[in-house]
Amino acid sequence: MHSILDADAAEYRESLGELIEHFQRLMRETRRLIGRSDRAEREMQALAQQLAYRASHDALTGVLNRSAVIERTTRILRINSAVMIILDIDEFKRINDDYGHPTGDEVISGVVGCLRRIVGEQGFIGRVGGEEFTVLLPGHDPASGALLAEQMRAAIGDSLVVPPVERSITASFGVSFNEVGTGFDTAYGLADAALYRAKRGGRNRVEFADR
Ligand code: GH3
Ligand code: MG
Ligand code: MG
Repeated sequence: MHSILDADAAEYRESLGELIEHFQRLMRETRRLIGRSDRAEREMQALAQQLAYRASHDALTGVLNRSAVIERTTRILRINSAVMIILDIDEFKRINDDYGHPTGDEVISGVVGCLRRIVGEQGFIGRVGGEEFTVLLPGHDPASGALLAEQMRAAIGDSLVVPPVERSITASFGVSFNEVGTGFDTAYGLADAALYRAKRGGRNRVEFADR
């Protein structure tokens, strides 16, 4: 139409109408594509979040996994003091042997439930081994760490019931108090040595790192 020099007004108008219609179609298609790309971006973000969560959390209990515990403890101890508690379920192998692995898993979840109720927002819980957990309490002093560890021990030993397990379910605890600047290995090693003493001392008890 542009190259026809003697076209009349009606022909120009018709051609312009076609042009506008074509342009509007293109705009609608563009908007559809933008919408689709926005949706894809939101899906990618949700997937990335899910991946990050799975990489840092234990699938059975939802608490932090071992590598996330190490990473977060290291980060916190750079800027704050912290109490580290390690606990290990007592004679757990017998629970598995007598009642089966699925019941053993329920006991693990039950123990984490007890820990969650006591720790709340005061710190974070991690699963560092099959039936071994850590609780890090940033900024807590030894007395408050001792109190919380004792509450956790009592909550598990006195009230955790997981049918059909009939014997009492208990855990042993080791506690270390760590000044700002302490490395993960030191904090963990001290609490672990205390846990070992709790096991040797008869289990279902809290022991403290001597430092
Ligand atoms: P102690 O009082 O000295 O800690 O004795 P224990 O029997 O608890 O210790 P031991 O290390 O001998 O046993 C731990 C058991 O935990 C062995 C392993 O089969 C079991 N276990 C590890 N991970 C899981 C898990 O995810 N689910 C279940 N059900 N059992 C697990
Ligand atoms: Mg054990
Ligand atoms: Mg163990």
